[in-house]
Amino acid sequence: MAKLLEVQDLKKYFKTPRGMLHAVDGVSFTIERGQTLGVVGESGCGKSTLGRVIIRLPDATDGKVYFEGEDITKIRNTQLLRQQMQIIFQDPFASLNPRMTVSETIAEPLRIHGLVRDRSGIDKRVYELMDTVGLASRFVNSYPHELDGGRRQRIGIARALALEPKFIVCDEPVSALDVSIQAQILNLMQDLQEENGFTYMFITHDLSVVKHISNDIMVMYLGMVVEKGEADELFDRPLHPYTKALLAAIPEPSVRKSRERTLLRGEITSPIDPKPGCRFAARCPYAKEACFSSYPALEEVLPERFVACHFSREINQLC
Ligand code: SF4
Repeated sequence: MAKLLEVQDLKKYFKTPRGMLHAVDGVSFTIERGQTLGVVGESGCGKSTLGRVIIRLPDATDGKVYFEGEDITKIRNTQLLRQQMQIIFQDPFASLNPRMTVSETIAEPLRIHGLVRDRSGIDKRVYELMDTVGLASRFVNSYPHELDGGRRQRIGIARALALEPKFIVCDEPVSALDVSIQAQILNLMQDLQEENGFTYMFITHDLSVVKHISNDIMVMYLGMVVEKGEADELFDRPLHPYTKALLAAIPEPSVRKSRERTLLRGEITSPIDPKPGCRFAARCPYAKEACFSSYPALEEVLPERFVACHFSREINQLC
């Protein structure tokens, strides 16, 4: 399978009155065409910033992003990028203009990019997109406040699809929706991927959601990747202490054997001018002296399983 996206040592820092905030700090990964990479972690771990920096909203502080083999971090004309890389936002209500109808919202990117110029062509494309995302044509002149959360998110998806992108960053696209609607939107996204070959980066804090939609999963903690691997394998056997704690926190049906709980204690390390050492050390039940002095590199400890932990082999009895 061919690589669509390759990210190398990507960094995004923000100046704050207290110092430099390392929101994304040296992240590397690839996504194959037509696949989904799930990116998980607690709020504030940098996953949304990562998704936005990849599509240059905003630009990176350092690092490279190769899209179809071309480094896009420095190209000046971002028009083509905007067509090929799109984003679906978490809160459909906040991301839609309340003064624009469904039709105007979906048509806007078509007009801006001049893909369809005549009025009848735009109308035809709007109806096609509404049909694609399962939004009844009777809502064409509705405003966002007249629709429920699921329908609003369908508008967000239709708008993202309008330019026929290859890569879509899905930034917590179902977090603001009721559970029953979440399943509908996830099914829609999977169907669209199968039909059109889209490549997704699916960002969420909800692990129960990410497993069903992802081929691979990447776990982030304070701007860095702590574990990466194939979705089922990572769920079956998490290797990093943070991933273990995240998975153990998912409620399990009582008939199933639940995972051993790992209670995370201790303060979360500040991402502002972080000190050397493992960023998870203050909360890690396995931390030793070495953990506080050097940051563990992301290493392949099993085939296609990457973990950033000095003691992952010992903790997981891998040797
Ligand atoms: Fe825990 Fe140390 Fe591994 Fe970090 S490097 S996860 S502190 S054992």
